[in-house]
Amino acid sequence: MLITGASLSPGVRTAIRIDGGRIACISPGLRPLRGEDVFDAAGAAVLPGLHDHHLHLLAYAAALDSVPCGPPQVTDAAALAQALGTRAARAGGGWLRGVGYHESVAGEIDRWWLDRVAPERPLRIQHRSGQLWIFNSAGLRSLGVGDGAGDDPFERHGGTPSGRLYGADAWLRARLGTRMPALGEASLRLARLGITGVTDAGPDNGAGEFRHFARERAGGRLLQDVLVMGSAGLDPAWSRPGLAVGATKIHLRESALPDFGAMRERIVQSHAAGRAVAVHCVTQAELVFAVGALQAAGVRRGDRLEHASLASPEAVALVREAGLHVVTQPHFLFERGDAYLSAVPTQDIAHLYRARSFVIAGVPLGAGSDAPYGDIDPWRAMDAALRRTSRAGRVLGADEALDPAAVLRLYGSHPLHPGGPCRSLAAGAVADLCVLDRPWEGLFEDLAAVRVRLTVGCGRVLHAV
Ligand SMILES: [Zn+2]
Repeated sequence: MLITGASLSPGVRTAIRIDGGRIACISPGLRPLRGEDVFDAAGAAVLPGLHDHHLHLLAYAAALDSVPCGPPQVTDAAALAQALGTRAARAGGGWLRGVGYHESVAGEIDRWWLDRVAPERPLRIQHRSGQLWIFNSAGLRSLGVGDGAGDDPFERHGGTPSGRLYGADAWLRARLGTRMPALGEASLRLARLGITGVTDAGPDNGAGEFRHFARERAGGRLLQDVLVMGSAGLDPAWSRPGLAVGATKIHLRESALPDFGAMRERIVQSHAAGRAVAVHCVTQAELVFAVGALQAAGVRRGDRLEHASLASPEAVALVREAGLHVVTQPHFLFERGDAYLSAVPTQDIAHLYRARSFVIAGVPLGAGSDAPYGDIDPWRAMDAALRRTSRAGRVLGADEALDPAAVLRLYGSHPLHPGGPCRSLAAGAVADLCVLDRPWEGLFEDLAAVRVRLTVGCGRVLHAV
């Protein structure tokens, strides 16, 4: 394949020949060979294929088939009741699944609230954090969860399950026996955005999920390369072309932090198994705990913090000294910024989803969508990293805005080195790139509007318009 009129830097046009999965040659003088496919980039910018450093592929695929239960689609109790009631009334008697719930919609709802709006079918809705499911009574019955004491992990009030289930996805999956979703539609959506690789951040990923990703890739449905983070259950899995075992993912919750020694031991064991560690930390206490445990265990290349949502200057310095990567979600400032401005103490707003402070300190800063809990679109995320404005147009931490070079590293860096240098487009490199719909000139004035015309992953066309 020959891509003509390709602009790898402002004002420069060249042609790129792709052959055998690699970039064979880059030169303005290249002419099409007989029978060669030609794509005219017409002077548009060409970037390395993007890598989403943190998402949840299975949950994202499932969410495409679920009822949205939170902002921006659903913002109040009446709208939620209507969305659930309408879908519940449709044909089909199986489970109804909702996603993206947030308290701003209807407060701390429970089974009785859901019973009032959709009593007939088993229903479960997921909190936007991914950490909480809320079931109606039909859902509880279908799981075999009865009133009175039980050995299930449901929250109980006076012995009666409230319908709320915290951090028990593995239990739930075992109980529901759900088949893992096909990934074709999710993968196509990623390809249309220029994404050629993803890091799956599911803490419970084990051998079964790894096999599922392998099957979906072998079947041609999963187009992206996947770095699979997850539990110790992945230790025995073998990496193969396009599918690799990533870091051990450890999820922290401030209200229930693990024993420090046990945490350190888990890190030591992960390193001994040849795997880095990725720690989910949202609060400052979680961050300090994570860095402390990593340093006690000895930091290994590739160890990383997911989110690092709140970081004081001292915390930034700690992360820097420890030599960790940070994988952030700048688009949360856009999607949730207005809620943050009313819920987060004023003195903490400047510490929220810091970006420039990390970069200046020398901390490699990558980004991931956290889909389905965040918007899948990397262009909107990069735009948010430049602007830091909320949906309502209010600015959060203007000093933390990134410059264009740092913005490109968010999704342009290597999967094992989030926030490191952008992968290069050079002769001999794997042909992994995307062609945008506009030139470099003016590109950063409205990154959110970028559309991708061509996505090539490992030399294969994944998307073209
Ligand atoms: Zn996540």
